[in-house]
Amino acid sequence: MTLITVIAANLAEVKQHMAEACSAAGRQPESVTLVAVGKGHPAERSRAALLAGQRVFGENRVQEAEGKWVALKQEFADARLHLIGPLQRNKVRAACALFDMIETVDRPQLARALADEFARCGRARDCLVQVNTGEEPQKAGIAPHAADAFIRLCRDEYAIPVRGLMCIPPVDEDPAPHFALLHDIARRNGLAELSMGMSADYPIAIRFGATLVRVGSAIFGDRGPAKAG
Ligand SMILES: *Cc1c(COP(=O)(O)O)cnc(C)c1O
Repeated sequence: MTLITVIAANLAEVKQHMAEACSAAGRQPESVTLVAVGKGHPAERSRAALLAGQRVFGENRVQEAEGKWVALKQEFADARLHLIGPLQRNKVRAACALFDMIETVDRPQLARALADEFARCGRARDCLVQVNTGEEPQKAGIAPHAADAFIRLCRDEYAIPVRGLMCIPPVDEDPAPHFALLHDIARRNGLAELSMGMSADYPIAIRFGATLVRVGSAIFGDRGPAKAG
């Protein structure tokens, strides 16, 4: 089988599972967007997914994304790219040049740097606030108890278009309470988008209201050992 055949089949399977999860939850299938996470894989795999019709992608590192996506975006002008990994302030300009959505706004200094860059280049990017629902010290994201104030700061002080929230639950825990917590924070702040669920748990995330699921290995295969940062 060719690469495109394999990836097209994987995409079809993930979409089938998404549709089943939506149906079980009484939700419309169009209410959930599949974000195909190509990190750790060569550009040709993302290209194969594009040829199979996939249009929304996620990458977790700015530099890796630049290496793949400057060319892919020229070839596929309607492709949309989401940043799903930590963003350093010195990469904000590069990130805004390449990404259509920043899913990982998680601290005041970054919010400020993004607001400055949006003003400088004359175009804002849709943003999500990342919440560290498990309060893991090594993990990015604003603490749940600080989320409401941080969302207000982003919106009111910096006029950042905050569309919703994103979380990455602890690897060895039941993700359901984390998804429920993210859903609660979004609802009380009037936010529509919920980015939650990965290859192992996206059907559960859909049950808890995910509008964006970030799926990597179920589409592109195993990445091997994870790289830091
Ligand atoms: C890698 C990654 C994913 C995709 O993980 P899979 O288990 O391969 O589906 C989703 N979200 C984030 C933030 C990631 O870093």
